[in-house]
Amino acid sequence: MTSFENPFDCEGMWLKGNLHTHTTVSDGARTPQERVADYEAKGYDFLALTDHDRLADLAPLADSRPVLLRGIELVCANPTGGPGYHLVGLDLPEAFRVPRSKQIQTVVDAILDAGGQAVLAHPYWTGQNIKDLEVVAGAFAVEVFNTTCEVCIGKGMSAVHWDDLLARGRRLLGIAVDDTHHATRDSFQGWVVVRAAERSPAAIMDALCRGRFYATCGPTIESVRLEGNRVSAVTSPVARINFICNGSSGRQVRSGDGAPITQAEHTLGGHESYVRVECTDQAGRSAWANPFFLR
Ligand SMILES: [Zn+2]
Ligand SMILES: [Zn+2]
Repeated sequence: MTSFENPFDCEGMWLKGNLHTHTTVSDGARTPQERVADYEAKGYDFLALTDHDRLADLAPLADSRPVLLRGIELVCANPTGGPGYHLVGLDLPEAFRVPRSKQIQTVVDAILDAGGQAVLAHPYWTGQNIKDLEVVAGAFAVEVFNTTCEVCIGKGMSAVHWDDLLARGRRLLGIAVDDTHHATRDSFQGWVVVRAAERSPAAIMDALCRGRFYATCGPTIESVRLEGNRVSAVTSPVARINFICNGSSGRQVRSGDGAPITQAEHTLGGHESYVRVECTDQAGRSAWANPFFLR
């Protein structure tokens, strides 16, 4: 059994960040300077600039308060003949060169070889299914929520894609991102909260890769614990808390009278391969903790 680290059992500081952002370096409506200032004004601790096909120059932004991560988004070919992927690379060196081949695995491997990390971006929006996704190895996370995909065409939520991969035994984390393109309409609606040892790119990436974070569109997850066969969660006031497992296992908890709840628990039956917690508040905004693997 290999589980990620539980951010609620770790030491460290909680840092809020957006891991998918476009600027005028590609098709975003705001310059890198404006984008960083926008997120700084909203209290974000870190921001990944992930323009299409090009790395933003972070040197002029060196004095920004948010920790900046150098990233990129690349459209990649699908070996199954299905729709092309959007792949986000995070924490890339300035010298990163986009590989000539756009085959998905070649691009993932190039990102990893350069010391970065790869994210499967917005699979619902891209039109991918499990057959498209299970052939890709090495991505550390999938976008369980993407703001611009939600506000533009209502396809921001890729929880089913994540669960399909988890049910097949893939150790994949779930992140929420804005994928900001417009000036304002797709900002500040999906983010991650990371438990990091310090405010630095290395510490933030380390915490991300260890699973020391949760993803959210608004609710706060105060704790998620697995003790024996009992899973428990404490959250900000929400309408429902789901314990999501493979197949038809799991449980939804809500109050009988529609009043908000702030905690729930679930007893596992012993046959589940993973369990994760998600909650949704009365405004319809969700948050997602990362999975525990049970076998
Ligand atoms: Zn994309
Ligand atoms: Zn994007």
